[in-house]
Amino acid sequence: MGSNMVSTIFAISWAILFVLGLLIFRGHAPVGLKRKLWAPFTIGSAILFVLFSSLLLRGRLPWFFYPFVVLIVFLNLRNTRFCETCGSMQTSRDLISRPRFCQKCGHDLTALHEAPLPK
Ligand SMILES: [Zn+2]
Repeated sequence: MGSNMVSTIFAISWAILFVLGLLIFRGHAPVGLKRKLWAPFTIGSAILFVLFSSLLLRGRLPWFFYPFVVLIVFLNLRNTRFCETCGSMQTSRDLISRPRFCQKCGHDLTALHEAPLPK
């Protein structure tokens, strides 16, 4: 497969993943579904990214590429929460902290087992 073909398939796949991600995680899907799909989506995207990068660079990825991707996946999984009350996706602005309160409704995101407030 030529590298132009790989780049094109990579760009199309990435665009599809981006739109799917927006529809599922930023849209109105049930919070349970968002939580269930977040890890497979994030890990699957990372695997796809590594595969395409490897194809484009013909397997000559620098050694630090893999731990860097693992770190990004870890931070994405750790620093993303879905609000129990409004279903909104919340990510932290920095690399270290996890979001504690929902920016949309103010719900405490650390109270994971709390029943949702009646509407
Ligand atoms: Zn909320």
